[in-house]
Amino acid sequence: MATSSTVQVSLPMPKIPRARRSPADIAAAAPVTGERHVLLAAPRGYCAGVDRAVIAVEKALEHYGAPVYVRKQIVHNLHVVSTLEARGAIFVEENDEVPEGALVVFSAHGVSPAVVASAADRNLRTIDATCPLVTKVHKEAVRFAREDYEILLIGHEGHEEVEGTFGEAPDHTQIVNNPDEADIIEVSNPDKLIWLSQTTLSVDETMETVRRLRARFPKLQDPPSDDICYATTNRQDAIKAISPKSDLVIVVGSANSSNSVRLVEVALEYGAKAAYRVDYASEVDEAWFEGVATVGVTSGASVPEVLVRDVLALLADYGYGSVEEVTTAQEDILFSLPKEIRAKLKEAGDDSRGPGGRITKSDISS
Ligand code: SF4
Repeated sequence: MATSSTVQVSLPMPKIPRARRSPADIAAAAPVTGERHVLLAAPRGYCAGVDRAVIAVEKALEHYGAPVYVRKQIVHNLHVVSTLEARGAIFVEENDEVPEGALVVFSAHGVSPAVVASAADRNLRTIDATCPLVTKVHKEAVRFAREDYEILLIGHEGHEEVEGTFGEAPDHTQIVNNPDEADIIEVSNPDKLIWLSQTTLSVDETMETVRRLRARFPKLQDPPSDDICYATTNRQDAIKAISPKSDLVIVVGSANSSNSVRLVEVALEYGAKAAYRVDYASEVDEAWFEGVATVGVTSGASVPEVLVRDVLALLADYGYGSVEEVTTAQEDILFSLPKEIRAKLKEAGDDSRGPGGRITKSDISS
């Protein structure tokens, strides 16, 4: 169980959008018991893998010049994608949309060997921004397939990360989408069976899926280390800490961000009376505040902090100006930039990301 600490934080200067009604009007329309205040979850927002991937595109634009092609959204966040587009990134769905010989960045979610091969067929120059923690799962899939294990990959079919991991060992892998599928999936060799997972799932739901799988296949093996990553776990622990005290939880994150969507589910499961996901502060509906004293706020692992600050500023406009940060874990993980970018930085004498491409923060992150 994570320990938590709380600290009062000072609010930034309010930015647009402004409240549509005054705090007095809101208070009159929806009286609440107790002081209106915000519980701000920590950790929240950018993880090390997202920061690395976004900086990889920023540095590619800086050193190779626009356009830089990116296969799929570099990370699942509308604001990040639109900001990089404005700087000259072109997001495509598949390699065949990239001109022959051009530069393409693979997203943080990872790619299958087939995607790498198709890039080579088109003579594309590539930068692989796959998160190292996704690469770890790929390597596990390759290793266990080589040892002739049958792999049950717990994850959401159609998600880019699952497509990439599945593609490492398609003949040995079946996808298990949820606990109910654990009750019906058939395997050919229950004695040589291992489960792996997508990195951004609900920890609790995944453990339920494993429990039900193991009830049917007692020899099911666990992965060598947790596949659900530290950032997903920490953000879920933080929202679990504040949800029981929150009348309303607002999760900042995009609709296609798996870990952001999971945070809404976890908030409701752990006692929040209501929980909503928004990309931007402008999507917050003032009707959500009726009867609400305590608002919990968090953000997914691909969300720049600036978007959270906009939500806090809006909440302050509505009378929720007192903000208490609840911290359940400290994070200090950094990943080196992709090797192709590190080589380019070295060649250009660019040490802005530290010796050897150790990263700091992307320009978009705050
Ligand atoms: S959420 Fe986890 S796996 Fe995904 S990019 Fe961040 S650190 Fe990597």
